[in-house]
Amino acid sequence: MTNVSYLPMYATSENMISTPPPTVSNEIPPPHTKKRKNHSEAWNHFTISSEKEQKASCKYCDTKIKYNNRTSSMHAHLSRCLVYKRQRTTSSMTSAEEHVGSPLIVKFDQEVIRRPMVKMFINMEIPFREVEHESFHEFMSLSSPRFQICSRTTLACDVLKLWDIKNDFEKRSLSELLKSLSHH
Ligand SMILES: [Zn+2]
Repeated sequence: MTNVSYLPMYATSENMISTPPPTVSNEIPPPHTKKRKNHSEAWNHFTISSEKEQKASCKYCDTKIKYNNRTSSMHAHLSRCLVYKRQRTTSSMTSAEEHVGSPLIVKFDQEVIRRPMVKMFINMEIPFREVEHESFHEFMSLSSPRFQICSRTTLACDVLKLWDIKNDFEKRSLSELLKSLSHH
């Protein structure tokens, strides 16, 4: 029986500890560089795991890195942290989907609403005078504020103009319907 020895988690973490860059800059830092302590954006992604050792652990994959009072190693880790990258991809995809689902700006077209309204009056056998009913006005003003509700006379004309009559039978029943509706 062979004993497979698994590497403990911290063994890989130790490898992630970045060594300070070998080049030592002799340049004087720009005068208006603000001393910002622990206020870097990188700290949104790390928690201090050991202040004494100056180690921070990645919130996403738990990798511990040495920060040495600088956040460059944190940024370096984030650029290769797969868990962080995956989360970012997922969240950006979600926001893209949300964007698709965001309210559409539909170009208002009186005619587009007029036709189904006429159809509704015919199919539901609503007397034409009901187009002037205050409840219908109230409903339309809320659901389609820009739509101008016509009078019962205009509605009757619209029925003839807009209603697509496919065959004689429909035409006959429509004319009967019109007669009955207008005499209400
Ligand atoms: Zn990470």
